[in-house]
Amino acid sequence: MRLDKFIADNSLFTRSEIKRLAKQKRIMVDGSVITNTAVQVSGEETISVEGENVVEQTHLYLKMHKPQGVVCATSDFENPTVIDELFQQAELENDTQTLLAIEKGNLQIVGRLDKDTTGLVLLTTDGEWNHRITSPKNHCDKTYRVQLAQPISAQDITALTRGITLKGEAKPTKPAKIEQHCDTEISLTISEGKYHQIKRMLAAVGNKVVELHRLKVGEIDLNDIPTQSQYQHLTIQEINQFI
Ligand code: URA
Repeated sequence: MRLDKFIADNSLFTRSEIKRLAKQKRIMVDGSVITNTAVQVSGEETISVEGENVVEQTHLYLKMHKPQGVVCATSDFENPTVIDELFQQAELENDTQTLLAIEKGNLQIVGRLDKDTTGLVLLTTDGEWNHRITSPKNHCDKTYRVQLAQPISAQDITALTRGITLKGEAKPTKPAKIEQHCDTEISLTISEGKYHQIKRMLAAVGNKVVELHRLKVGEIDLNDIPTQSQYQHLTIQEINQFI
């Protein structure tokens, strides 16, 4: 590809800045000054701008602890977004790969949590990976800790576990897994992602969700991110679950 495209794709320099910097002899390829930015590069070369190496960006895979009041959207006029939170954290950590993906608008949010739901949110620049997790065909498990307004009965647990018909839906939900912690707290694992699914499932048995927190997506969990708004790059093992 052209040198100017390689630099623009992998840094925050614009095409016009790249042209100006090349004229000023501040771009080098394998130790030689390059003034013609139309030259072809493979990405194997050592390319630098103003003495800083420009490295080819690979896909980015992140997990974040979403706080309450933050929306799963790339922009919003009224509320802070997970991208705003991530940007602040990435600036504090000087994480240029994440800042670059945000600046370029390449980061996708994997599924959605409601504004008042806390917990695990995945983000990636890899659209295929996102699709593998969110596609209804793939039945990816998602586990939530659910605080309830009313004690939950054994019959309700059986109904939710077997599948329940939600208001406005023709087919029942797919079987769910439930672990009961006390009479008003359960962990619920679902393999679908219908709109407000957990709140609607509990409403269908006459209960109400008062707090909802996502603990896990597949085998990716939030255990190592106890603090809200913090994030981590996924490990190869975490990424490969969905390859
Ligand atoms: N189900 C809901 O009702 N809300 C969420 O945020 C996630 C699942």
